[in-house]
Amino acid sequence: MTHADPAPVPAPAANDRSGLLESLRWRKFPVLDDGFVALVDSMGDDGSVVQAARVSYGEGTRKVSDDRQLIRYLLRHAHTTPFEMAELKFVVRVPMDCWRQWIRHRTASVNEYSTRYSLAIDSMQATHDDEWRSQAANNRQGSAGYLPRDAGHKLSQSETELQSLARRVYEERLEAGIAREQARKDLPLATYTEAYWKINLHNLLHFLALRMDSHAQLEIRRYAETIGQEIVKPLFPLVWEAFIDYRVEAIRLTRLDQELIRRLAKQAGGRGMPATQADFMAVQDPSWKGLERCRERDECLLKLVNLGLVNPSNP
Ligand SMILES: Cc1cc2nc3c(=O)[nH]c(=O)nc-3n(C[C@H](O)[C@H](O)[C@H](O)COP(=O)(O)OP(=O)(O)OC[C@H]3O[C@@H](n4cnc5c(N)ncnc54)[C@H](O)[C@@H]3O)c2cc1C
Repeated sequence: MTHADPAPVPAPAANDRSGLLESLRWRKFPVLDDGFVALVDSMGDDGSVVQAARVSYGEGTRKVSDDRQLIRYLLRHAHTTPFEMAELKFVVRVPMDCWRQWIRHRTASVNEYSTRYSLAIDSMQATHDDEWRSQAANNRQGSAGYLPRDAGHKLSQSETELQSLARRVYEERLEAGIAREQARKDLPLATYTEAYWKINLHNLLHFLALRMDSHAQLEIRRYAETIGQEIVKPLFPLVWEAFIDYRVEAIRLTRLDQELIRRLAKQAGGRGMPATQADFMAVQDPSWKGLERCRERDECLLKLVNLGLVNPSNP
């Protein structure tokens, strides 16, 4: 595979499906400092999902539901196969650490730029002075807040030095006749790679739900948000709307959550809602009591705060 070189952006076309597709194809949407996503090709639209569903559910659906209602029903009830009828193919440029997370999504077809065959792309993701994030205290996998710019400045400087050294050593090895497959071994994970990535709409929505989520690492979240907002949303507006309503912005209440809410409503009684955090702790699930830290309890509290049932500023 050769270094991807998307063609220039075509002029905006007529406001129809093929015009929209043509205006999106090969258009590089920038992500991070030197990454991008571009749509190479796409098959299907909202209508393909509807068409496939009507084959399986029969003509009767035409009478009871318009396209929007049908798509919303399918997504709400996880009737997933009609969403597999649409396909999207992208070319992406991503730092290798981010790509390592991306490639865990096994339900896509991938061809990646080969650094055995070709020179490693001469670009590494650089972190600006104000982009260094602190380790989160309550989530071992996450970050919380940013370092002051001064502290970040020093880190960015040492990052630049390290990346320059790594690239120099790599090029010296190549000049000494070392094979590309071995010369690359000390390149940083910040080095950009490129790949073609083809996936059906169902699996893409699964990827987006996981990687647009606030628990996903910021860098991959930026890619997922760009794919979602810039490409999936315009190409599949009805699917996108249902996806936001029933996946991205839905709150899942477990059995434990529901029982807690019932107890809370009963206890709050005359006092009304929102309840205090002390009220919440008093009616927590018995299995959480006595635990100093309990992730499930924290998640439940957050859901109730978001629903306006518990006041976060009232202990
Ligand atoms: C916030 C976050 C943190 C993460 N942290 C870690 C971590 O610390 N360590 C780590 O290793 N990974 C981690 N992951 C990766 C995660 O475990 C998944 O591998 C990744 O999100 C891909 O999800 P998936 O398997 O559902 O997707 P896909 O691979 O696209 O699969 C989609 C669905 O197809 C089905 N499927 C696919 N292949 C199989 C199979 N072989 N057998 C059975 N069913 C299959 C499953 O239902 C699956 O959900 C993390 C992911 C996220 C979003």
